[in-house]
Amino acid sequence: MLKSLYYIKNWMVRLLKSNNIVATATAHGYAGIGVIRISGTDALEIACQLTHHKTLTPRLATYTKLYSSKDEILDSGLVIYFKSPNSFTGEDVVELQGHGSPIALQMIVQRCLELGCHMAEPGEFSRLAYLNGKIDLVQAESIIDLIHAESEATAKGALKSLHGEFSRQINVINEQLIDLRMFVEATLDFPEEDIEFIANAKIRDKLTILVESMEKLLSNTTQGVLLNNGANIVIIGRPNVGKSSLLNALANEDIAIVTDIAGTTRDIVKEKININGIAFNIIDTAGIRDTTDVVEKIGIERAFNAANSADICLVLVDAIIGLTSTDTSMLSSVPSTIPKIFVHNKVDLLGSITPVSKKLGDTHIYISAKIGTGIDTLRTEILKTVGFDNNNNDVFIARTRHLDAIKRSVEHIHLGFYHWSNLEILAEELRYAHNSLSEITGEFSSDDLLGEIFSRFCIGK
Ligand code: GDP
Repeated sequence: MLKSLYYIKNWMVRLLKSNNIVATATAHGYAGIGVIRISGTDALEIACQLTHHKTLTPRLATYTKLYSSKDEILDSGLVIYFKSPNSFTGEDVVELQGHGSPIALQMIVQRCLELGCHMAEPGEFSRLAYLNGKIDLVQAESIIDLIHAESEATAKGALKSLHGEFSRQINVINEQLIDLRMFVEATLDFPEEDIEFIANAKIRDKLTILVESMEKLLSNTTQGVLLNNGANIVIIGRPNVGKSSLLNALANEDIAIVTDIAGTTRDIVKEKININGIAFNIIDTAGIRDTTDVVEKIGIERAFNAANSADICLVLVDAIIGLTSTDTSMLSSVPSTIPKIFVHNKVDLLGSITPVSKKLGDTHIYISAKIGTGIDTLRTEILKTVGFDNNNNDVFIARTRHLDAIKRSVEHIHLGFYHWSNLEILAEELRYAHNSLSEITGEFSSDDLLGEIFSRFCIGK
């Protein structure tokens, strides 16, 4: 559905209720201050009745009392008026900053309802901002990602998206796509042979540039999704090589049980860790070995499943024994596309420390999970392997739905490239590619998708 249709639908729903919404914008609970937001055509009038002011100057914080219908004081605090269109939602907005008492805030919200507001739905302020062209869909989603960010890097990435970096990169490609589509359509309309010859060469050049830009966007978005969801590090290896000890060392906490009894970890243990401000999910698995124990067998199966969906696999081996035939057969079940680091543990028993090495393109690191040797080197290598080794200031945050849309768009462009000499097919593939890309910023998104995205917001956002 086009954004304009969604706009009309929302506008009609709103007409049936009232044109003004209100909600507490700060978290429910006890705090120093609490903020209430009103948005709508009567926001100023409602604020004036609430505060007994004749009018309010835009963007000027005014200390005031807030009154009930019986002129009792409900609270005192600051009121700020944002005149349309220079507000978060693009409508007239008033923010009331009172004390953070849930009861006082509830009384003020109640008074706003009496004065003609209706309760905002989850995400309604952000939805209005999107519908009124103040932000696009990616920016709206990044507000929630910023609120839920679990690491400094994720918060920085969310801010990058909120400030429009991701949308900018999409829009650059959208313009290239529009330009190419226009060119292809025009060539279709004027099929003189000599023009077609020149045009075909140009189309190929433009397609090549487009494919390069798309690949770059795909790679940036993949990083953005990893940053948002936390890359999955899976530790696999034979029993007793020190997998649980390594999980504890990387997490800096005693999370998994460490014993010298083989088969202690029977299920997967998952923990969130932070490496240089970047969130990771680290997964310890059951030791891989031949066993008749039913429970252990299920655990080993789960270990393989976890390894198959890993963003990076740490293959842990005992440094004294080295890689065994069990390790080699275990590795044959893990897709070669999943990056692996071979971690040789228990070097404290060796007496000498071997530096990081590359063998046949694989990285080998030597550590002691017990005493901490090599753990920082391993952390650096993990960051490098998932692409966060340099200054990650450039990474914007992204979601799986963005990545899926970009992948679909890339597929259509590749199909178009494959059929480039058939301009009708090319034109059609480019149209699909363009639609997929436009879903990301919300110019061409389904009604259900938009409804789902905004319903995940909290009330007051
Ligand atoms: P897992 O079965 O692979 O999870 O292995 P654990 O982490 O439970 O460790 C098995 C045994 O090896 C325990 O007795 C640990 O104390 C010991 N261990 C683990 N890492 C090291 C290490 O770096 N050096 C030494 N000396 N022992 C270790």
